Amino acid sequence: IPSEFQQALPVLKTIQDNGFEAYFVGGSVRDTILGLPIHDVDIATSAYPAEVKALFKKTVDTGIEHGTVMVIDHGEGYEVTTFRTESGYQDYRRPDKVTFVRSLADDLKRRDLTINALAMNMNGEIVDLFGGLDDLKNHLIRAVGVPAERYHEDALRMMRTVRFASKLDFAIDPITEKAIAENAPLLAKIAVERIHEEWVKLLQGRNIKRGVQAFIDTGLYQYCPGLKDYRAELAQLLALPAIKLTSEEAVWTLITTLCELDDSQVSRLLRQWKSSREIIHNTLKARVALRALRQQQLDALMLYQTGLPLLLVANQVAAFFKNQVDETALRTQYEKLPIKSKRELVLTGNDLLKAKIITPGPWMGQILNTLEVEVVQGKVANQTAALMGRACELAKQSD
Ligand code: ATP
Ligand code: MG
Repeated sequence: IPSEFQQALPVLKTIQDNGFEAYFVGGSVRDTILGLPIHDVDIATSAYPAEVKALFKKTVDTGIEHGTVMVIDHGEGYEVTTFRTESGYQDYRRPDKVTFVRSLADDLKRRDLTINALAMNMNGEIVDLFGGLDDLKNHLIRAVGVPAERYHEDALRMMRTVRFASKLDFAIDPITEKAIAENAPLLAKIAVERIHEEWVKLLQGRNIKRGVQAFIDTGLYQYCPGLKDYRAELAQLLALPAIKLTSEEAVWTLITTLCELDDSQVSRLLRQWKSSREIIHNTLKARVALRALRQQQLDALMLYQTGLPLLLVANQVAAFFKNQVDETALRTQYEKLPIKSKRELVLTGNDLLKAKIITPGPWMGQILNTLEVEVVQGKVANQTAALMGRACELAKQSD
């Protein structure tokens, strides 16, 4: 078993030695069986939160109302969650009531997909009550229990289902997919922030066509902010080359380009999706660079204004349009820029004032902006004498 689990074994052992059950659960078990890297190890236990806290020296109440306690062991934090059942999903979103229970089976029953409802004990033995292991083997996404009921309890699970199809490149079981198609309108009840998280992950999966196909076919796209009228545009994703995106900016750069949105439409759409201001700003910049890449007009000034991280985003998206350039060459080109930011100009406004080349005022900023652009373009060297000389010329022109 992977080192992440090995490291967490003392936590499981402590819980068990005190007469409780403890298992690894959820995504880490699934990904280990698939041979994928795991990020966080979740532990489920029959011990109640207060009982967990009493067993360890150092704990943090990260989600005590849901039964989650973070146990700190050898400097590592582990989320330990009490087995629980949920009931009374009156709003298609969240349970009205969470009840802590002693039975692992009850806890696994409330989980969304069979492949996410596996538990593993200290010896690496798997508890599989819903055929999750077979589904992993057959590359199948299937809801636990009666799909329609599970989507009524929490409509977000429909997005999670298509997201995992994309993430893992698995097919969705026909009965599960049919239940999504029949219940898609319930997605409108779900907070945008939760849909957003699944959507962005969907488009960063290893086979986004799988997820997108189901997202379109089931009609889920109609209940996502601003996408209702873009079925055909979204369907273009199915015909594009298979490429992996690795950031939210890349996701939006691609989607908004396919939908042929202008900048103000992009801002509006991303605000509807509750993306952060930073993401909106970055997406708008990456789109400019993508356009330059597609028109093969990526010059020094564009490299400079975009900055390396967003250049790499734009280049990732450019691959969909077969306009990608070699990433190493792009990095080299960027590194060769004479300056990376205005601060690197060796001449400052103060220098200009001291040399009496100019008096304070708006002209000064404009001259510095011109110098900045000309240095980036290689028209003037970033050296004091050269910049002074050029500043004199510009000051004369402005008289
Ligand atoms: P990832 O690798 O994306 O983190 P994950 O399986 O760990 O995948 P999480 O969202 O972290 O996904 O959830 C952890 C576990 O909690 C899931 O594996 C699943 O068992 C359960 N779960 C999460 N969200 C839901 C939900 N909306 N309904 C039912 N079970 C859920
Ligand atoms: Mg997780």
